[in-house]
Amino acid sequence: MNVLLFRPRPDKETIGLQNVMICEPLELEYISANIEALGHTCTIVDMIIEKKNVAYFVKLYNPDVVGITGYISHVNIMKRYAKEAKEVNENITTIIGGVHAEVNPEDFVSPYVDYIIRANGIRTFIDILNKLDKSEKKNQDSENAENKTSEIVVNDDEIECIYVPGKKPPKKDTTFNYLYPDRNKVDKYRSKYYYMFHRNCTLIKTSFGCPYNCKFCFCRQIMDDQYFARDLEDIVNELEQIPETEIYIVDDDFLVGRERILKFCDLLEQRGINKKYLIYGRADYVASNEDVIKRFKEVGLRAVIVGLESCDSRQLDDYNKRTNVAINEKAVGILKKYDVECYGTFILGLDWTKEDFNALYKWIKKLGLVFVNLQPLTPLRGTDIYEKYKPRFIVREDEYEKWDLAHLVVRPDNISVRKYYWYTMVLYYKITANPVSGWYMVKKYGLHDTLKLSIGAVAVNNQYWKKLIEGEKCRKN
Ligand code: SF4
Repeated sequence: MNVLLFRPRPDKETIGLQNVMICEPLELEYISANIEALGHTCTIVDMIIEKKNVAYFVKLYNPDVVGITGYISHVNIMKRYAKEAKEVNENITTIIGGVHAEVNPEDFVSPYVDYIIRANGIRTFIDILNKLDKSEKKNQDSENAENKTSEIVVNDDEIECIYVPGKKPPKKDTTFNYLYPDRNKVDKYRSKYYYMFHRNCTLIKTSFGCPYNCKFCFCRQIMDDQYFARDLEDIVNELEQIPETEIYIVDDDFLVGRERILKFCDLLEQRGINKKYLIYGRADYVASNEDVIKRFKEVGLRAVIVGLESCDSRQLDDYNKRTNVAINEKAVGILKKYDVECYGTFILGLDWTKEDFNALYKWIKKLGLVFVNLQPLTPLRGTDIYEKYKPRFIVREDEYEKWDLAHLVVRPDNISVRKYYWYTMVLYYKITANPVSGWYMVKKYGLHDTLKLSIGAVAVNNQYWKKLIEGEKCRKN
């Protein structure tokens, strides 16, 4: 089969991380490697970078199957891509995958979508292709035998992990035995991929799920609260094959287990693998494993994205974060001590007033953090906090493009929507757009990269201004 895979471009309404980062579509590279090994052909189109439309690529590659992946903010776009593919050729089979489809598959139901992958993406994609292959073969046999076309109905029940309304969700695999992703498939886009100051960064996934259970977190839902990690030798073998130096380990939490991380560091050293790593890690791990951070730094740790979430221990308890402010402060101090960049992510409470925004600013300033991501608490469907906040939604659930963890989707308790956006913007300005932070970035990352990031930040800022001017535009469901 000839397969065409799309990574969607976000809607212009979506407040865009793509202005400060574009990462390779790792999940599509996995699909590509594993289906081509079975004799199919595959092309990946990254619509974030491409200028032409879906119809153009469908006509160019003439696929039998179109696969589309994405997140919650892409739902409408993904369905539109499926429609546009079918409009070029109604015989194309369209397949939807991605983390949102796994948790909320019903959102993708459409006359233009043939299959929604509910779990175990790579295996299920292969199952669908096998089914289509069988069906095509039967049709050919039937044509040969009777010299006429006969419709063969594909029995979807035979594909274990696709979405079938009313059918119990399938179990997620807790092993991962697939070929490495075919990163060459996006060679022509490679120079455009970056994460903040990490240029040409290559993604790798080494574990699935997270052993913790923060109430707001969507990551847990994707793996049904299960956690498993790949074998370290296998991971290091994969790293050895990657020519790029900057590596972004996209695990929900890479820092799990002292011995595992220390062994990982030893293996990197033994094999002479010389790369720079950007990872996700928890503050409590960093705070209680200073020696591991020191060791990891020696073999390439460059930056850690830490979910600090709050400067108020009661709020951390509310989120079931299992950390506190003292732990957060210790973690930031340790990362600073070993010159490991800390990208702090924070959740802005819905009951916040101006004083809360000011308190967070003072705390961030005290810690000397330069890079922060500020997200209003967003109760995504599937998380523990969804039902509680649903009556207060000010963004319709089918306005998926606004569910980007930057839009305010719940009416705040104590201040207006406009004020909420304004205080968020001011907080960003005060932390990142000041001479001290600017000079820090220029000194550490150079003028070119600082300017590039600043241009992206200005684009995000303009989107926030738009929100501020709009205020609360709530449409009824
Ligand atoms: S927020 Fe982080 S630590 Fe908490 S459950 Fe999600 S991935 Fe795990």
